[in-house]
Amino acid sequence: MHDHPGGIVTRFAPSPTGQLHIGHAYSVLFAYRKAKENGGRFILRIEDIDTERCRPEYVDGIKEDLHWLGLTWEEPVRKQSEHMAGYAAALDKLAGADLLYPCFCSRRDIREEIARAPAAPHGPEGALYPGTCRNLTADERQDRMAKGEPYALRLDTTAALARLDAPLIWEDLEKGKQEAHPEILGDVVLARKDTPASYHLCVTLDDHLQGVTHVTRGEDLFHATHLHRLLQHILGLNVPVWHHHPLLHDEEGKRFAKRNQSVTLKSLREMGSMPEDIIRRVS
Ligand code: GLU
Repeated sequence: MHDHPGGIVTRFAPSPTGQLHIGHAYSVLFAYRKAKENGGRFILRIEDIDTERCRPEYVDGIKEDLHWLGLTWEEPVRKQSEHMAGYAAALDKLAGADLLYPCFCSRRDIREEIARAPAAPHGPEGALYPGTCRNLTADERQDRMAKGEPYALRLDTTAALARLDAPLIWEDLEKGKQEAHPEILGDVVLARKDTPASYHLCVTLDDHLQGVTHVTRGEDLFHATHLHRLLQHILGLNVPVWHHHPLLHDEEGKRFAKRNQSVTLKSLREMGSMPEDIIRRVS
């Protein structure tokens, strides 16, 4: 096991876009137990930069569910929406290193560009951003910004990788040592058009700021870690270890989803389930 003189720190970082379900119960207990079994600390963080989809009543619901499960966490709870200036500063640093570019493409532009170029790069999660706006000239960028065209900021992943003098390594406690290959995700968006940050940027920065030593989360985010490792390197952040756990599936073999109301912790509670029932079901 790794040496963590200050003790291990884990976190559960839900987005308040709906009620927690049984899959979240598995994930939060995974993080909680890992901390507690090792005499460590457990943190709750609210990932609410998506102002369109996140709602305060879901934050209350998350806390109610976790209390009901018998979990406790440190206060105050970090809410990402309250730290936009910190994310902006990280973006400035990346821009200063010439690793960001504005992307004016709509989803439709991207779809059409990919359809035009069938050899466009693909990653494990599908077609990658084809790089259309990477090739704009400084004047074109200036013009379009001056016209008020909305834009996202993308990481120039190829440029970032070209500056590495050694491969980046990260460790997953389930799958072992990994060499980071962020190119499998292409030029990801680090600041969205609708909100000047992104999941990848905020999660990486926050795990550092909060001293998280063990990032535990579902294996659906395994590929994202390749990119997070690169961001940590460029921004000079701490490197935790990761434990991507398998996802729970329902009887039909499907992943639990927020839209499936019947498996939310709230409805299970209202139908008479006890916390022990849930804990047994996900253990
Ligand atoms: N906020 C993310 C989600 O709800 C999880 C982030 C993470 O654990 O890295 O899917």
